[in-house]
Amino acid sequence: MTRKILVLPGDGIGPEITAQASRILAACQARGLDVEVEEALVGGGAYDEYGDPLPAGTLEKARAARAILLGAVGGPKWDRLEDLSKRPEKGLLGLRKSLGLFGNLRPAILYPQLAEASSLKPEVVSGLDIMIVRELTGGIYFGQPRGIEERDGERVGFNTYVYSESEIERIGRVAFEMARKRGKKLCSVDKANVLEVTILWREVMDRLAPEYPDVELSHMYVDNAAMQLVRAPRQFDVIVTGNMFGDILSDAAAMLTGSIGMLPSASLNESGQGMYEPCHGSAPDIAGQNIANPLATILSVAMMLRYSFDEPALAGRIEAAVGKVLDDGLRTADIASEGTRTVSTVEMGDAVLAAFEGL
Ligand code: NAD
Repeated sequence: MTRKILVLPGDGIGPEITAQASRILAACQARGLDVEVEEALVGGGAYDEYGDPLPAGTLEKARAARAILLGAVGGPKWDRLEDLSKRPEKGLLGLRKSLGLFGNLRPAILYPQLAEASSLKPEVVSGLDIMIVRELTGGIYFGQPRGIEERDGERVGFNTYVYSESEIERIGRVAFEMARKRGKKLCSVDKANVLEVTILWREVMDRLAPEYPDVELSHMYVDNAAMQLVRAPRQFDVIVTGNMFGDILSDAAAMLTGSIGMLPSASLNESGQGMYEPCHGSAPDIAGQNIANPLATILSVAMMLRYSFDEPALAGRIEAAVGKVLDDGLRTADIASEGTRTVSTVEMGDAVLAAFEGL
């Protein structure tokens, strides 16, 4: 097994937050984590340098790595690029597609120390711990045919929502296994009252269920799931859904926790190779100011150690260090509240590192 990690800082706040996560990674190396770490360009920065948001050299390094740590890509500088295939986001989509990263894990955990940051009442959200398993390389974002064309004298836009049985089955298995390791409840979200593709989705989930008798499977239409997430979010343990529904529901779940700056994510392929990144974007509005929250990226390193390197003890140590820093009342501006101390990106990195070493 290759023990390489590729760090892709990306654009906007990406370099600032990955710098702090890399310090934690180095501390793990000092404690025996046997990995080789290298860096490369992706997104807008890669376009500026090579005319391509996913240069061949970066893709080659990504293929050779066991795990990738990504900051974020994109920004206003590249928003007006006419050739859509050169937009920074294409770097990200290209990596997901090329590496076959079909399984996106997005935990939404409400840290007790940040309970007041949620827009919902504490009694509704306290103790929230949901894992959303989103299919990432299929569905309507990739389906063909797609395009905008002239029909009967006017322009028509069209996309194709398509899933094969095997695509549904492999994401279903990831979700059942995840539920098995957690609260043993799996809710599959679809729109089977309207869309044939999700009738098949539901059938495949039902077919898999007897293989996981310890997991309780339920189904929910996506519109109801959106409502239930804000009405009574603690009813969920693991949610499994397709690419587009997952995109929307995981952002809604993220906001239940009060800060997008706290949420990591993992995208895995069949061989356990993974890309780990914060759920948020490149935050160009605060880039370069040393105020971005690095915790989602640091927690992404913890997910990487757990899912790609099978190092649960080191992963737990990082998570405990983050908990300790929050207990101590340190906050970046996005999660600051009365009675807490607002710190910079680098100061937050310093504090997590100190807590990690001191545990
Ligand atoms: P965003 O997540 O970058 O920012 C939304 C808001 O949250 C902003 O006010 C930002 O300042 C704040 N924020 C985000 N992360 C933060 C952090 N770590 N600490 C403190 N505050 C934080 O979303 P957006 O503004 O819609 O998009 C900005 C750019 O990022 C766009 O170019 C978009 O395409 C790109 N984007 C990239 C990714 C990715 O790389 N995975 C994901 C989403 C958006």
